[in-house]
Amino acid sequence: MKDEGGNIYSVFDEILSRKEKEELLKQHSIVLWMTGLSGSGKTTIAKALERLMHEDGYLTELLDGDNIRSGINKNLGFSDEDRTENIRRIAEISKLFVNCGVITINCFVSPTKAIRQQAKEIIGEADFVEVFIDTPLEICEQRDPKGLYKKARKGEIKDFTGISAPFEAPEDAVVIKTEGKEVAECAKELYEHILPKIGK
Ligand code: ADP
Repeated sequence: MKDEGGNIYSVFDEILSRKEKEELLKQHSIVLWMTGLSGSGKTTIAKALERLMHEDGYLTELLDGDNIRSGINKNLGFSDEDRTENIRRIAEISKLFVNCGVITINCFVSPTKAIRQQAKEIIGEADFVEVFIDTPLEICEQRDPKGLYKKARKGEIKDFTGISAPFEAPEDAVVIKTEGKEVAECAKELYEHILPKIGK
């Protein structure tokens, strides 16, 4: 296949296939797309889940706002255009990992249905598993692990999800409720949901 400029040639029909890589790793790769308010527990649960999976011999990659925004997306801000570009790059990166057979766990607030739909379209529906870390706003605000709610209440952060910008809960996601539960319990619950999808 040739691009319009005539300078890019696809090698996808020549390189090792995803299936061969999945066979090597003895797993089926998917993208877990964790959505939820800031402080809901996306990253904390993802880390615990990744540890459980590692112990069972699964190869994973965890992507979150900190490793993405401090690296590949450090030139992006929070305008609508930049948020869209942020998600587009994250989704494209996830696709590369999935094509390499790696189970990819993404932790991004991704507050709107449109943003998650964009990610789903890039990654492909078959490989996209949406997970809603469902924690009431009051609890997230009490936890406030990064002090962001305090700043948002003082008006120091504009368009902060849950305070001054909306969060649209997904309708068709794996739902993990965290209120009154230990992190380990939430991670185990999520692991049980995804085990049938990743094989072994
Ligand atoms: P997010 O990635 O969604 O912004 P974080 O994982 O950074 O959220 O922060 C969640 C905070 O809530 C952490 O300080 C974590 O220790 C705490 N927490 C308390 N209970 C739970 C639970 N059951 N699941 C996840 N996090 C929890």
